[in-house]
Order: sequence, then C-alpha cells, then structure tokens
Amino acid sequence: MTIKLYDTQQRRKVDFVPLHEGKVSMYVCGPTVYNRIHIGNARTFISFDMIRRYLTWRGFDVTFVQNVTDIDDKIINRANEEGRSAAEVAAQYTEAFINDMHAAGVADPDVRPRATEEIPAMIELVETLIERGHAYEVEGDVYFAVRSYDGYGQLSGRDVDEMEAGHRELRSDGQGLEDRKRDPLDFALWKAAKPGEPSWESPWGQGRPGWHIECSAMSHKYLGLPFDIHGGGADLCFPHHENERAQSEAAYGTTFARHWMHSGMLQINSEKMSKSLGNFMLLHEVLEDTRPESLRMLMMQTHYRSPLDFSPERLAEADAALTRIENTVKNLDWLMANAQDGAPDQLDSTRIAQWVTEAREAFTQAMDDDFNAPAALGAIFTLVANVNGEVAEKTLSVVDAEAVVQARDLMIELMAVLGVDLLDTGEETTYPLEVVALAAEVAGYGGEDPMEAVEALLEARAQARAEKQWAVADSVRDGLIELGFIIEDTPQGARVTYEG
Ligand code: AMP
Ligand code: ZN
Repeated sequence: MTIKLYDTQQRRKVDFVPLHEGKVSMYVCGPTVYNRIHIGNARTFISFDMIRRYLTWRGFDVTFVQNVTDIDDKIINRANEEGRSAAEVAAQYTEAFINDMHAAGVADPDVRPRATEEIPAMIELVETLIERGHAYEVEGDVYFAVRSYDGYGQLSGRDVDEMEAGHRELRSDGQGLEDRKRDPLDFALWKAAKPGEPSWESPWGQGRPGWHIECSAMSHKYLGLPFDIHGGGADLCFPHHENERAQSEAAYGTTFARHWMHSGMLQINSEKMSKSLGNFMLLHEVLEDTRPESLRMLMMQTHYRSPLDFSPERLAEADAALTRIENTVKNLDWLMANAQDGAPDQLDSTRIAQWVTEAREAFTQAMDDDFNAPAALGAIFTLVANVNGEVAEKTLSVVDAEAVVQARDLMIELMAVLGVDLLDTGEETTYPLEVVALAAEVAGYGGEDPMEAVEALLEARAQARAEKQWAVADSVRDGLIELGFIIEDTPQGARVTYEG
C-alpha cells in the first residue's frame, strides 16, 4: 500500500512516491539558537522524528537534514545584552539544543549544517538570483524581487496583490529598510553589516545572510533538487517557506520540495505557545519532572497536524496510558519466564497470533494514512487489551509462550516506531539491600545479590507452605512486605513486585 501524506501546497492528501525508489530525502527547518527550546518547538521536532522513524520502518532509506540558524538578529541582540559575542551565544544554545533533542529521544539528523559555516553556498545562490534577474542590490543589501517569480504565494495560498496592502501599512512606519526595496513585498537575501555585527566578505561588501536563504542553500547542497519532503511548524509556512521556495525555484528553475508538510501548534489555554507571549515551558524543565517517554506519548495522542492543547493533567494521563502498556509488557515477561513445561494449554494461542497480525496491519494502515499516530496507538491498545484479557488468571505452557512473545515484541516494536522506547524507561527497579539480610536470616542465603535473595526467600516460603509450616511461610511474606515488596499468589506460583 502507498503512504498518503497531507501536502500543504496541494491542500489535500496525496500518494507519497519518492523521487528515487526506496529513498526519501527530508529537510526540516531547525531552531534559531538564542535560548533553550520550549515544548512547542519540541512538538515540531518530535512530529518529524516520528515521520522519519515510520518511513524508515516502512523500509525507506531516509536522508534527514536539519539546519541550525546560528546567525540572526535575536542572537545578536542577546549577545549585546550579555556583553558576549554572537558566536558564543550560538555555540552555547546549539549544544543545549542537541542535548535537549537527545533527552527527548529525537534522533540526530544525518546532516546538521550551521548557517555560519555555509556562507559561500548562500553567496553563490544570491549571485545566481541576481544574474537571473530575480534579485537586486541596494547599498550592500540584496533583495529578492517577489514579482519576478510567478509562483509566489502558491504554497501558503496567498494572492500577491492582496498581500501588498498589508505591507504598505508597514512601510508607512518609516522603516529605512522598507524604503530601499523596489517593492514592499521584496525581502532581504543579504544584509549589509551594521557596526559591531558579525559579518562576512561578499561581492556586496561586508554583510550577513537573511534567514530564508540559508535553508534554500543548505537543502540544495545536501539533498539536491528536488527533494521529497520539506517540513516545519505551520507557523513557518508563510513567509519563511514561501520565500525559501521562491528563491530556490527562481534560481534553479526546478521544483524545490516535492511535498510540504507542516505540523500543528502546541497550545496552552488554546493559545500558541511562544517566546513572545511568555506562555512557554522549556523542554529541559518539563523533562526534569517527566520522563521523555510520557511527553512523547502525549504528543502521539494528537494527530501531528492538529493543534495540541498542553496541560499537566494531559501529561499525567499520557503517563498513565504508557504505564498500562509497560505493565502489560512486564506482566508478559513474567508469565513467559514462569511458563511451565508440559502445563496444560490454557491460552488460545491462535487467537493471540491473530491479534498480533491484526495489530500490525491496523498500525500500518493508520500510519500510512498521513501518519495518524493516535489511531496507530489505538491499534496497540487493542492488542494490549485483548492479550491482557486472554492471559488473565491463566497458566502458560512453553507452547503458549511463543504467541505471547510475539505479542510482547510487537508492542515494543510499534511503540519504538512512535519513538517510545519501552525498554528504556529509566525505571529499572533495584531491590533494597536489606533483602539480602532477610534472606540470610530466614532462608539461609549466603550470597550478596538482592535478586537472588528474593528468589531464595520465595523458595523458602514455598517449601514452608508445602510442609504446612505456616508461621515460617508468613514470616517470609511479612518480611518482604515490610521492605516494600508486593506478593501475589498466581496459578504459576508467587509473584513479587517491588514498589519501593
Ligand atoms: P524557531 O526557533 O522559532 O524558528 O522555531 C523552531 C521550530 O519550532 C519551528 O519549526 C517552529 O515552527 C516550531 N514552533 C514554534 N512554536 C511552536 C509551537 N507552539 N508549536 C509547535 N511548533 C512550534
Ligand atoms: Zn527553513
């Protein structure tokens, strides 16, 4: 089956057929590194991480490029405020960004170009635009002539003539920059350096690149044109992506991105989370109290194109939903470890195998339909509920265990495609050391390993019960409970969990 994706420019879902069979080239705009990213920014990066993971799981060889905007007014302003160089500010927040992405479980891009290291490619592109009559220089600035490119506005669905009215108002505020342009719609490709600003040598004198030109230059350099998917948050569609597209198509005379994908905004109280509104929560702060898997779970519970209303309550709910899957996996692990050779077949293994097949199909169908992660999670939860119902109160034979292994492995595999690593929840339980002393005292245990000590205690308890020495059996149980263990007697013997 073909994957369908919603293409912003075509305003509909389209069949996704990559340019080169089996390969996908993706470019996703990266951050401007002037402070730590908030969970709204993280949502966009996590959405495209999910899309990339799914395409990889479907067998595509994905090349993923994401830039770092390390030269920008915001960086320069911050540097001036703090009496440091722009390069220092950018280096600090680039490193912080990469750490934050790692903490959130977002895979590194294949290429992470930095604007300041790609200036020659940008200058070359600006020169091409001037040569082709799409750009012009005014006193060290270079502007893109929007009306020289016919397709302007097609991506974001805007009409050039309607846009102009808005821009004229802007001009009347007396901004000197606006007066230099031939047309108020034109935008800067290259800006002449102001005193004290970082700058680079160019055919137009010392200066620095505009923001949009960097993505056009880097995607061309690292992916070639056209490439398959260009992504970013919905707020970048206009003007950033419209401008990227205009520059690249005007310069190279070919399609820029074959498909445009935009992720919805993360909101708080129905308002976009943003630095300027001051309603933001920094990713690294949220991750101090919440494990990254729960945040990812929350993100996956909403379709990537829909707005996502963030609240601590929803985050807690997502954590609870994740715990349900984790407990199922732990339970299945325990059942398998305790499967008995030759025990009567109590499970309907054929049904479990059937659910496994159905879950894989339903997951794939949901994700093929424009990466519908909430529906894909639904398929995983159906498997969880079915298998839980089937194994409850039953003894597993070794034969049953095979079907159970498949179900368990599929839960782990599919959650990993959504970026949730069930095996790495950072919650590895460690038993208290006191249990070693207890085992030495009541079970004659001579070692030092808490796991072994618990085993020895359970054996001693089973033996005491078999010999009807109830007082001994109870003292073992009470001792374990006192240390924070929970003991359940199941058809497959006693099961111990540690709550701490
Ligand atoms: P910036 O550093 O401002 O360019 O933003 C980096 C990325 O975060 C861009 O792809 C934005 O579209 C995205 N972004 C910013 N705010 C939000 C938000 N509230 N929800 C989702 N994505 C956002
Ligand atoms: Zn960009």
